[in-house]
Amino acid sequence: MKSKYDWFDDNWNPDVKLSTIIHELLLSPTYRWPMRITEVHIYKDESTCAQCPRCKGSIEYEYQFFCGRCWQRLDWFRFEDAREIYIGWSGPKDDEEDDEVD
Ligand SMILES: [Zn+2]
Repeated sequence: MKSKYDWFDDNWNPDVKLSTIIHELLLSPTYRWPMRITEVHIYKDESTCAQCPRCKGSIEYEYQFFCGRCWQRLDWFRFEDAREIYIGWSGPKDDEEDDEVD
């Protein structure tokens, strides 16, 4: 993590984007705070793999308390609403296919 003073240049103008500062301020103590799972990858064999919200690594087991890679604590609240991302395929086909939109 950058020191607070690295965020400003010699004229005390912010050297980084405000969003970065906020992100870094929030970052350090948050490993113990659950982060919500918001993405799940779905593979062609329809196996699913939740993605760690911090390191984007795959989470091995559903509903495990921590990410096995970065130890971020995980929150599975409303996991069923997580964004589904199809890996290597375009998802289950509907019966009717929409024509391509220009
Ligand atoms: Zn992780």
